[in-house]
Amino acid sequence: MKIQLLPSTFDDQGHATPEQRLTCFLIDERVAVDAGSIALALNAEQRENVRDIIVTHPHMDHIASLPIFIDDLFPALKQPVRIYATPEVIELLERDIFNWNVYPRFSELKNDYGPVMEYVPIPTGEEFKVAHLTVTAVAVNHIVPTIGLLVSDGNSTVAFSSDTSETEEFWTLINRSPRMDALLIEASFPDSMAKLADVTRHFTPASLGRELGKLNHNGLDILAVHIKPSYRQTVIDELNALNIKGLGVMEPGRNYHW
Ligand SMILES: [Zn+2]
Ligand SMILES: [Zn+2]
Repeated sequence: MKIQLLPSTFDDQGHATPEQRLTCFLIDERVAVDAGSIALALNAEQRENVRDIIVTHPHMDHIASLPIFIDDLFPALKQPVRIYATPEVIELLERDIFNWNVYPRFSELKNDYGPVMEYVPIPTGEEFKVAHLTVTAVAVNHIVPTIGLLVSDGNSTVAFSSDTSETEEFWTLINRSPRMDALLIEASFPDSMAKLADVTRHFTPASLGRELGKLNHNGLDILAVHIKPSYRQTVIDELNALNIKGLGVMEPGRNYHW
């Protein structure tokens, strides 16, 4: 499986900057997990291929450019962009984003070829297919309904925590999986901001370190994501100080293969 954390910002030469402001993972050039930077960072070929997007929750950093992505493609779409989300999240997207005020309700619009956007309600706790991938979603512990994901292409298996604090089901799901190649897990705030992390339901390096005690697999890559740009170096230093085998930081714009 090939996974890239799409960049959100670029330097003067157009290269991805290391800070992650938005969340969008591209899997095998065709499936997206969240859509924060989807309209900003896909190349032309990827834009033609990505029609399946899993939305873990409706926070702005995870959906910021989703409306723009569909808008850009509107006249050319020969099949709808499919949004996979739990019924609660679909309801929030319709109420708060695609509500004719913030942006048009694309789920009711058609171009010359047919519908341009389609919701695919997904279950929690059971497998479903997204393109060539088998996915299981479970609720994690964030301030809005949010899912973590286990994604398999039949060979390798990668878990996405999305935004969460201390949680249980996600670890049960991972520990039950016979194979785990990578865990992409959030580490938002430095330890000094544990209180804010608690209120907003995110991890700090210290709480992530405790949480990783629930992981029964060995030898997998554990990559921290969703590090708040303003505290990036402090969070990285604190993660390194945990001295956990396999724990690193995911670089936006780099292709990872598992
Ligand atoms: Zn969030
Ligand atoms: Zn977020």
